[in-house]
Amino acid sequence: MTLPPRLRIVHLYPDLMSVYGDRGNILALVRRAQWRGIEVDVTGVTVGDRLDPDEADLIFFGGGQDREQAVVSKDFVGEKGEATIEAVEDGAALLAICGGYQLLGRTYTTFDGQELPGAGLFDIRSVPGPRRHIGNALVETDLDGESRTLVGFENHSGCTYLGDGVRPLGKVLVGAGNNGEDRTEGAVYRGAYGCYLHGSLLPKNPWLADRLLAIALRRRTGASVALPALDDRLEDDAHRAVEQRVRAAGGRVQSGAW
Ligand code: GLN
Repeated sequence: MTLPPRLRIVHLYPDLMSVYGDRGNILALVRRAQWRGIEVDVTGVTVGDRLDPDEADLIFFGGGQDREQAVVSKDFVGEKGEATIEAVEDGAALLAICGGYQLLGRTYTTFDGQELPGAGLFDIRSVPGPRRHIGNALVETDLDGESRTLVGFENHSGCTYLGDGVRPLGKVLVGAGNNGEDRTEGAVYRGAYGCYLHGSLLPKNPWLADRLLAIALRRRTGASVALPALDDRLEDDAHRAVEQRVRAAGGRVQSGAW
């Protein structure tokens, strides 16, 4: 019997860029693959390590504070950033949250005005906003023509503006999203998704986890793979409970000092 191939997940800067439960995304991806009999290797890649684009079926890049982002930007832009882009161009899946999302854009300007270069996978720029956006968020997406919602938690002072023609991940129903102005949230490029949704995001938005896994498996095997459905009653209940709470709170986004 041929075993399904092992999926290879690269976790970028797990020691520097992982806040507000971001690591839960890795746990959700690994579990949802294993429940289908697919084993997963997770490799942490941090400052000074090499990223081999051929060994990354799915890349995860979490959020972080400005201080860590300054360290990571220096290390990431160049070889690792290019390897990340190469993997995505070759069909790999990618999920980036908040600070990681910002560093995959063209530039991220910190709250105190330092302009950090990004890898440029997404044609986006992030600049400091007048206030910090903190709160639960609800986003509507229609990635494959089907309307769905994503629930998450955002905490950022950076405001992201999409370049012409960049596809947002979705429309903000509650929360600030990319910039608190245009109601866009996140960005999509090929199999790469960036957004401001911490939380953890994937355990309570399991369809997005499966979408990423399907992209990664297609890259790994060279063929479309239909993932068997899982019993997601608990996950769906969790999603619904958060969605109801966020809707009931009525779009209240707290702002606070940096
Ligand atoms: N430091 C960035 C900002 O405040 C990213 C924060 C985060 O990843 N939560 O916008």
